[in-house]
Amino acid sequence: MYVPSGRAARSFAGDGDASDADVISETTIKNVLTRTTGFLRTVTSHSLQPYCGCTYGNSLCGAGCYVRHNGRLLKGRAWGSFLEVRTNAAQSYLDNYDAEAAWARRAGAQGLFSIFCSSSTDPFVPQEFRSGITRAILAAMLERPPDRLILQTHSHRVAEYAALLRDLADRCDVRVHVSIETDREEIPGLPPHASSVAKRLAACARLKEAGLWTVVTVSPLLPIADPDGFFARIAEVADAVVVDHYIGGDGSQDGSRTLKTALPAAMRQLDAESTELSYRDRMAAVARRYLPGRVGISIDGFAGRYLP
Ligand code: SF4
Repeated sequence: MYVPSGRAARSFAGDGDASDADVISETTIKNVLTRTTGFLRTVTSHSLQPYCGCTYGNSLCGAGCYVRHNGRLLKGRAWGSFLEVRTNAAQSYLDNYDAEAAWARRAGAQGLFSIFCSSSTDPFVPQEFRSGITRAILAAMLERPPDRLILQTHSHRVAEYAALLRDLADRCDVRVHVSIETDREEIPGLPPHASSVAKRLAACARLKEAGLWTVVTVSPLLPIADPDGFFARIAEVADAVVVDHYIGGDGSQDGSRTLKTALPAAMRQLDAESTELSYRDRMAAVARRYLPGRVGISIDGFAGRYLP
Protein backbone atom coordinates (compact mmCIF):
# COMPACT_ATOMS: atom_id res chain seq x y z
CA MET A 1 0.00 0.00 0.00
CA TYR A 2 1.35 3.38 -0.95
CA VAL A 3 2.26 5.69 1.90
CA PRO A 4 2.53 9.38 1.01
CA SER A 5 5.98 10.58 1.82
CA GLY A 6 5.17 14.27 2.27
CA ARG A 7 7.98 16.78 1.92
CA ALA A 8 11.30 14.98 1.77
CA ALA A 9 14.47 15.81 -0.09
CA ARG A 10 15.78 13.09 -2.37
CA SER A 11 18.89 12.82 -4.41
CA PHE A 12 18.67 12.23 -8.15
CA ALA A 13 20.52 9.06 -9.05
CA GLY A 14 19.86 9.14 -12.77
CA ASP A 15 19.04 5.45 -13.04
CA GLY A 16 15.28 5.50 -13.25
CA ASP A 17 14.98 4.34 -9.67
CA ALA A 18 15.25 7.65 -7.88
CA SER A 19 14.03 11.20 -8.31
CA ASP A 20 14.25 14.50 -6.56
CA ALA A 21 10.65 15.59 -6.16
CA ASP A 22 10.09 17.69 -3.04
CA VAL A 23 6.41 17.04 -2.58
CA ILE A 24 4.54 13.83 -3.23
CA SER A 25 0.84 13.95 -2.50
CA GLU A 26 -2.28 11.91 -3.12
CA THR A 27 -5.24 13.18 -5.06
CA THR A 28 -8.34 11.91 -6.83
CA ILE A 29 -9.67 12.74 -10.26
CA LYS A 30 -13.21 12.80 -11.61
CA ASN A 31 -12.37 11.66 -15.13
CA VAL A 32 -8.89 10.33 -15.87
CA LEU A 33 -9.74 10.09 -19.59
CA THR A 34 -9.01 13.43 -21.26
CA ARG A 35 -10.24 13.96 -24.80
CA THR A 36 -7.20 14.95 -26.85
CA THR A 37 -6.72 18.35 -28.41
CA GLY A 38 -3.87 19.89 -30.41
CA PHE A 39 -1.10 17.70 -31.76
CA LEU A 40 -2.30 14.52 -30.03
CA ARG A 41 -5.69 14.67 -31.72
CA THR A 42 -4.59 12.69 -34.75
CA VAL A 43 -2.84 10.12 -32.56
CA THR A 44 -5.42 8.97 -30.01
CA SER A 45 -8.90 9.91 -28.86
CA HIS A 46 -7.82 10.28 -25.23
CA SER A 47 -4.80 10.87 -23.06
CA LEU A 48 -4.47 9.41 -19.60
CA GLN A 49 -2.14 10.60 -16.84
CA PRO A 50 -1.76 8.27 -13.83
CA TYR A 51 0.05 11.13 -12.07
CA CYS A 52 0.11 14.91 -12.21
CA GLY A 53 3.68 16.18 -12.39
CA CYS A 54 6.74 14.07 -13.13
CA THR A 55 9.62 13.14 -10.88
CA TYR A 56 11.92 12.86 -13.90
CA GLY A 57 11.51 16.61 -14.38
CA ASN A 58 15.04 17.40 -13.24
CA SER A 59 16.66 14.73 -15.38
CA LEU A 60 17.84 15.24 -18.96
CA CYS A 61 14.43 14.73 -20.55
CA GLY A 62 12.92 17.23 -18.13
CA ALA A 63 15.25 19.98 -19.40
CA GLY A 64 13.35 20.22 -22.66
CA CYS A 65 10.03 18.80 -21.48
CA TYR A 66 7.22 20.92 -22.92
CA VAL A 67 5.06 20.35 -19.85
CA ARG A 68 7.41 22.55 -17.82
CA HIS A 69 5.78 25.53 -19.59
CA ASN A 70 2.22 24.56 -18.61
CA GLY A 71 1.35 27.15 -15.98
CA ARG A 72 -2.12 25.67 -15.41
CA LEU A 73 -0.55 22.37 -14.35
CA LEU A 74 2.41 23.85 -12.47
CA LYS A 75 0.34 26.27 -10.33
CA GLY A 76 3.51 28.13 -9.37
CA ARG A 77 5.48 24.94 -8.61
CA ALA A 78 8.81 24.11 -10.25
CA TRP A 79 8.68 21.32 -12.83
CA GLY A 80 10.12 18.14 -11.33
CA SER A 81 9.48 19.26 -7.75
CA PHE A 82 6.08 17.62 -7.23
CA LEU A 83 4.04 14.54 -7.99
CA GLU A 84 0.34 14.07 -7.38
CA VAL A 85 -0.56 10.38 -7.18
CA ARG A 86 -4.04 9.84 -8.64
CA THR A 87 -5.16 7.11 -6.29
CA ASN A 88 -8.53 6.49 -7.97
CA ALA A 89 -7.22 6.52 -11.56
CA ALA A 90 -8.14 2.89 -12.32
CA GLN A 91 -11.64 3.25 -10.90
CA SER A 92 -12.09 6.53 -12.75
CA TYR A 93 -11.15 4.74 -15.98
CA LEU A 94 -13.83 2.11 -15.37
CA ASP A 95 -16.43 4.67 -14.26
CA ASN A 96 -15.98 6.78 -17.38
CA TYR A 97 -15.36 3.94 -19.85
CA ASP A 98 -18.83 3.68 -21.41
CA ALA A 99 -19.34 7.38 -22.09
CA GLU A 100 -15.81 8.03 -23.33
CA ALA A 101 -15.59 4.88 -25.48
CA ALA A 102 -18.92 5.75 -27.12
CA TRP A 103 -17.79 9.31 -27.80
CA ALA A 104 -14.42 8.14 -29.20
CA ARG A 105 -15.91 5.57 -31.54
CA ARG A 106 -18.23 8.26 -32.86
CA ALA A 107 -15.87 11.26 -33.00
CA GLY A 108 -12.33 10.28 -31.95
CA ALA A 109 -9.15 9.72 -33.98
CA GLN A 110 -9.80 6.97 -36.59
CA GLY A 111 -13.10 6.15 -34.86
CA LEU A 112 -11.25 4.24 -32.16
CA PHE A 113 -11.26 4.47 -28.39
CA SER A 114 -7.52 4.93 -28.16
CA ILE A 115 -5.43 6.12 -25.24
CA PHE A 116 -2.06 7.83 -25.01
CA CYS A 117 -0.47 7.15 -21.62
CA SER A 118 1.12 9.53 -20.89
CA SER A 119 1.65 12.96 -22.40
CA SER A 120 2.35 15.06 -19.30
CA THR A 121 3.86 12.58 -16.85
CA ASP A 122 5.63 9.24 -17.04
CA PRO A 123 3.64 6.08 -16.21
CA PHE A 124 6.84 4.58 -14.77
CA VAL A 125 8.11 7.24 -12.40
CA PRO A 126 9.91 5.56 -9.48
CA GLN A 127 6.86 6.13 -7.27
CA GLU A 128 4.86 3.78 -9.53
CA PHE A 129 6.65 0.84 -7.99
CA ARG A 130 5.18 1.72 -4.59
CA SER A 131 1.80 3.14 -5.58
CA GLY A 132 0.94 0.76 -8.45
CA ILE A 133 -1.32 3.33 -10.12
CA THR A 134 -0.29 2.45 -13.67
CA ARG A 135 -0.43 -1.25 -12.83
CA ALA A 136 -4.00 -0.83 -11.53
CA ILE A 137 -4.99 1.06 -14.69
CA LEU A 138 -3.58 -1.72 -16.89
CA ALA A 139 -5.47 -4.29 -14.82
CA ALA A 140 -8.66 -2.25 -15.30
CA MET A 141 -7.95 -2.23 -19.04
CA LEU A 142 -7.74 -6.01 -19.00
CA GLU A 143 -11.28 -5.96 -17.64
CA ARG A 144 -12.48 -3.33 -20.11
CA PRO A 145 -9.92 -2.82 -22.89
CA PRO A 146 -9.69 0.27 -25.06
CA ASP A 147 -9.28 -0.31 -28.80
CA ARG A 148 -5.67 0.86 -28.65
CA LEU A 149 -3.18 1.78 -25.95
CA ILE A 150 0.01 3.72 -26.62
CA LEU A 151 2.23 3.54 -23.56
CA GLN A 152 4.94 6.19 -23.66
CA THR A 153 7.86 6.23 -21.22
CA HIS A 154 11.42 7.35 -20.59
CA SER A 155 12.08 4.53 -18.14
CA HIS A 156 13.59 1.08 -18.67
CA ARG A 157 11.35 -0.12 -15.84
CA VAL A 158 8.43 -0.48 -18.28
CA ALA A 159 9.91 -3.92 -18.98
CA GLU A 160 8.88 -5.03 -15.48
CA TYR A 161 5.29 -4.88 -16.74
CA ALA A 162 5.94 -6.95 -19.87
CA ALA A 163 3.77 -9.91 -18.78
CA LEU A 164 0.81 -7.68 -17.92
CA LEU A 165 1.19 -5.79 -21.19
CA ARG A 166 1.39 -9.08 -23.08
CA ASP A 167 -1.95 -10.11 -21.55
CA LEU A 168 -3.44 -6.78 -22.52
CA ALA A 169 -2.07 -7.12 -26.06
CA ASP A 170 -4.29 -10.21 -26.41
CA ARG A 171 -7.30 -7.97 -25.78
CA CYS A 172 -6.42 -4.78 -27.72
CA ASP A 173 -3.76 -3.08 -29.84
CA VAL A 174 -0.85 -2.23 -27.53
CA ARG A 175 2.12 -0.15 -28.64
CA VAL A 176 4.96 0.52 -26.24
CA HIS A 177 6.95 3.67 -26.99
CA VAL A 178 10.30 4.08 -25.26
CA SER A 179 11.94 7.50 -25.63
CA ILE A 180 15.66 7.33 -26.41
CA GLU A 181 16.75 10.73 -27.66
CA THR A 182 20.40 9.97 -28.44
CA ASP A 183 23.05 7.29 -28.15
CA ARG A 184 25.05 9.46 -25.74
CA GLU A 185 24.92 8.56 -22.05
CA GLU A 186 25.84 12.15 -21.18
CA ILE A 187 25.19 15.52 -22.75
CA PRO A 188 27.54 18.16 -21.30
CA GLY A 189 25.57 21.03 -19.78
CA LEU A 190 22.49 18.90 -19.11
CA PRO A 191 21.57 16.70 -16.14
CA PRO A 192 21.88 12.87 -16.35
CA HIS A 193 19.31 10.71 -18.08
CA ALA A 194 16.60 9.37 -15.78
CA SER A 195 17.33 5.95 -17.23
CA SER A 196 20.53 5.12 -19.10
CA VAL A 197 20.50 4.62 -22.86
CA ALA A 198 21.84 1.09 -22.40
CA LYS A 199 19.06 0.17 -19.95
CA ARG A 200 16.36 1.58 -22.21
CA LEU A 201 17.67 -0.34 -25.22
CA ALA A 202 17.78 -3.51 -23.12
CA ALA A 203 14.21 -2.87 -21.97
CA CYS A 204 13.11 -2.57 -25.59
CA ALA A 205 14.73 -5.91 -26.34
CA ARG A 206 12.78 -7.53 -23.46
CA LEU A 207 9.50 -5.98 -24.62
CA LYS A 208 10.04 -7.08 -28.20
CA GLU A 209 10.98 -10.58 -27.10
CA ALA A 210 7.72 -10.68 -25.15
CA GLY A 211 5.92 -10.10 -28.45
CA LEU A 212 4.98 -6.49 -27.79
CA TRP A 213 5.00 -3.91 -30.60
CA THR A 214 7.91 -1.77 -29.45
CA VAL A 215 8.76 1.65 -30.83
CA VAL A 216 11.80 3.79 -29.99
CA THR A 217 10.86 7.45 -30.03
CA VAL A 218 13.96 9.56 -30.68
CA SER A 219 12.20 12.55 -29.21
CA PRO A 220 13.38 15.19 -28.99
CA LEU A 221 16.24 14.26 -31.30
CA LEU A 222 19.59 15.12 -29.67
CA PRO A 223 23.04 14.92 -31.29
CA ILE A 224 23.85 11.31 -32.10
CA ALA A 225 27.51 10.21 -31.91
CA ASP A 226 27.23 7.18 -34.20
CA PRO A 227 24.02 7.35 -36.26
CA ASP A 228 24.62 4.05 -38.09
CA GLY A 229 25.42 2.18 -34.89
CA PHE A 230 22.46 3.71 -33.05
CA PHE A 231 19.80 2.94 -35.65
CA ALA A 232 21.25 -0.51 -36.34
CA ARG A 233 20.89 -1.28 -32.62
CA ILE A 234 17.34 0.13 -32.57
CA ALA A 235 16.47 -2.13 -35.50
CA GLU A 236 17.56 -5.12 -33.38
CA VAL A 237 15.49 -4.24 -30.31
CA ALA A 238 12.41 -2.44 -31.67
CA ASP A 239 9.78 -2.76 -34.38
CA ALA A 240 9.80 0.89 -35.45
CA VAL A 241 11.39 4.26 -34.72
CA VAL A 242 10.06 7.81 -34.54
CA VAL A 243 12.41 10.73 -35.22
CA ASP A 244 11.09 13.96 -33.75
CA HIS A 245 12.97 17.28 -33.65
CA TYR A 246 12.02 19.99 -31.19
CA ILE A 247 11.31 22.21 -34.21
CA GLY A 248 7.86 21.05 -35.16
CA GLY A 249 7.74 18.64 -32.23
CA ASP A 250 7.44 20.72 -29.08
CA GLY A 251 3.93 22.00 -29.70
CA SER A 252 5.05 25.37 -31.08
CA GLN A 253 5.43 26.12 -34.78
CA ASP A 254 9.14 26.93 -34.68
CA GLY A 255 10.49 25.22 -31.58
CA SER A 256 10.15 28.44 -29.58
CA ARG A 257 9.15 26.56 -26.42
CA THR A 258 12.42 24.62 -26.45
CA LEU A 259 14.42 27.72 -27.35
CA LYS A 260 13.61 28.97 -23.82
CA THR A 261 15.38 25.94 -22.31
CA ALA A 262 19.01 24.80 -21.95
CA LEU A 263 18.59 22.19 -24.67
CA PRO A 264 19.56 24.08 -27.87
CA ALA A 265 22.79 25.49 -26.40
CA ALA A 266 23.86 22.04 -25.19
CA MET A 267 23.02 20.52 -28.57
CA ARG A 268 24.94 23.23 -30.43
CA GLN A 269 28.03 22.54 -28.34
CA LEU A 270 28.12 18.96 -29.61
CA ASP A 271 26.87 19.47 -33.15
CA ALA A 272 25.76 22.87 -34.45
CA GLU A 273 23.72 21.27 -37.22
CA SER A 274 21.60 19.34 -34.73
CA THR A 275 19.52 22.44 -33.97
CA GLU A 276 18.37 22.60 -37.61
CA LEU A 277 15.36 20.70 -38.88
CA SER A 278 17.51 19.28 -41.69
CA TYR A 279 19.32 17.24 -39.00
CA ARG A 280 16.09 15.33 -38.36
CA ASP A 281 15.79 14.45 -42.03
CA ARG A 282 19.41 13.39 -42.18
CA MET A 283 18.96 11.08 -39.18
CA ALA A 284 15.69 9.74 -40.61
CA ALA A 285 17.52 8.85 -43.83
CA VAL A 286 20.02 6.79 -41.80
CA ALA A 287 17.18 5.18 -39.82
CA ARG A 288 15.42 4.16 -43.05
CA ARG A 289 18.44 2.08 -44.06
CA TYR A 290 18.00 -0.09 -40.96
CA LEU A 291 14.22 0.00 -40.51
CA PRO A 292 12.73 0.35 -44.01
CA GLY A 293 9.02 1.15 -43.88
CA ARG A 294 9.17 1.54 -40.10
CA VAL A 295 10.42 5.10 -39.63
CA GLY A 296 7.97 7.81 -38.62
CA ILE A 297 8.53 11.53 -38.48
CA SER A 298 7.20 13.53 -35.54
CA ILE A 299 3.48 13.33 -34.94
CA ASP A 300 2.93 10.97 -37.88
CA GLY A 301 5.33 8.54 -36.26
CA PHE A 302 3.62 8.76 -32.89
CA ALA A 303 0.38 7.90 -34.67
CA GLY A 304 2.02 4.89 -36.34
CA ARG A 305 2.18 6.44 -39.82
CA TYR A 306 5.57 5.52 -41.28
CA LEU A 307 7.54 6.67 -44.30
CA PRO A 308 7.35 4.23 -47.23
S1 SF4 B 1 9.53 11.69 -18.39
FE1 SF4 B 1 8.28 12.78 -19.90
S2 SF4 B 1 6.86 14.05 -18.70
FE2 SF4 B 1 8.54 13.42 -17.34
S3 SF4 B 1 10.01 15.10 -17.44
FE3 SF4 B 1 10.63 13.55 -18.94
S4 SF4 B 1 9.69 14.24 -20.87
FE4 SF4 B 1 8.63 15.31 -19.19
